[in-house]
Amino acid sequence: MRENSSDVIVVGGGPCGSFTALNLAKLGFNVKVFEEHAEIGVPFHCAGHLSIKGLKLLGLHPLPPEIVENVFYGAVFHSPRGKSLHVRFSSPVTYSVNRVLFDKYITKVAEVAGAHYFLSSAVKSLMIQNGFVKGVIVRRGKTEKFSAKVVVDAEGISSGILRQAGLSAFNRHTIVKAVQAEVENVEELETDMVEVFLGRDYAPGFYAWIMPKLDGEAKVGLASKTGNPRELLQRFMLKHPTASKKFRRAKILHTSFHSITLGGPIPKIFSNGFLVVGDAAGHVKPTTGGGVIFGMACARIAAEVASEALRRNDFSSNFLCEYQKRCNRTLGSEAKFMLRIRGALDALPDNKLDNAINFCVKIGLDKALQNFEDIDFQRRSLLRMLWNPRMSAFLFYSLFSYLLANR
Ligand SMILES: Cc1cc2nc3c(=O)[nH]c(=O)nc-3n(C[C@H](O)[C@H](O)[C@H](O)COP(=O)(O)OP(=O)(O)OC[C@H]3O[C@@H](n4cnc5c(N)ncnc54)[C@H](O)[C@@H]3O)c2cc1C
Repeated sequence: MRENSSDVIVVGGGPCGSFTALNLAKLGFNVKVFEEHAEIGVPFHCAGHLSIKGLKLLGLHPLPPEIVENVFYGAVFHSPRGKSLHVRFSSPVTYSVNRVLFDKYITKVAEVAGAHYFLSSAVKSLMIQNGFVKGVIVRRGKTEKFSAKVVVDAEGISSGILRQAGLSAFNRHTIVKAVQAEVENVEELETDMVEVFLGRDYAPGFYAWIMPKLDGEAKVGLASKTGNPRELLQRFMLKHPTASKKFRRAKILHTSFHSITLGGPIPKIFSNGFLVVGDAAGHVKPTTGGGVIFGMACARIAAEVASEALRRNDFSSNFLCEYQKRCNRTLGSEAKFMLRIRGALDALPDNKLDNAINFCVKIGLDKALQNFEDIDFQRRSLLRMLWNPRMSAFLFYSLFSYLLANR
């Protein structure tokens, strides 16, 4: 076995791994990224629904035009029995990005900054000496050892090296199984609006979505706590009172399956010489399952803390805990708030969801939601809207329904 050394090793070339690598390489550190697949971004599974505000926050706006498949001005929320609430903003709020091209773009920028990528290179285990992670063992044809002062775990939801570093992964009960299909000939769509279908009949524990593209195709998906996602998707496309009308002539071109964690951050995201970013760390919004913006925001913090550790030559937990503290300051209360919203949504039976959407339409909540300026930092946005009488009425209604449902 040969041994190579660097400042930082990143395990996984998804958006969060590559963004960590980019931010460290920009500072002049020697960074290696190991990706088990032969091509960055492939296979893909993600809808690529990203907020423009989030991309700006990360310094990634504007994106190269070929990455953006569509631009959205808002969303239509459908209740289980076919009521709908339209929330349209006066300017674009989100993009549908092509995740393969997006991942490749972050990789390219990281490479230009000086990061070294190793494809078809699966990290099999960590090298640990005296309680410190000191590198990784990689299989790429042959087995090789690579040492580093800091190893960053960016393996995504199925991280295998977490436990070896003494950290605990997710609670299985917080994971939903997702399916997404690329579908052509979808009809009756507003091409600049995302559609969200709530209700446990079709997507227990989550929701279904339709994200139109400009070429007549759409990304159609759902996630669920129980049941078989493939069967649920079929049921959704054939039987849902509103959605099925859009799929009368539809043809599925490609289907992918993956899981999403909705349980918020894992308890500990650092140990000696080791940091965890992205899905592996649970940096995903429990309300929507979106993990790209949250994950990359924390990946940038990981790079910041790793760079400070390298300058101080201190890779101990005592210093690296700074990463968790800074992530908590950025995301902590947001994640807790969204966990409560997710819990409340999960507890609501379908008939109550129908009533709630109906109530929202009646009081004109769509108008109040036009001030919901940040879909990533949802708690912050909601707090800013509390003065709005429509929002106060809705919150009062929700609290009342929740108390009645849980008597
Ligand atoms: C159906 C679906 C739809 C989604 N839609 C959205 C959305 O619209 N918006 C949004 O923000 N989020 C969405 N998400 C979530 C989003 O995909 C993730 O939050 C995001 O991809 C996390 O990025 P990551 O870099 O942490 O992990 P990943 O993107 O999973 O990347 C991890 C990488 O690590 C590699 N890897 C793993 N183990 C090893 C190893 N041992 N050695 C080497 N390489 C390894 C993998 O091959 C992979 O390339 C969706 C998820 C699903 C399942």
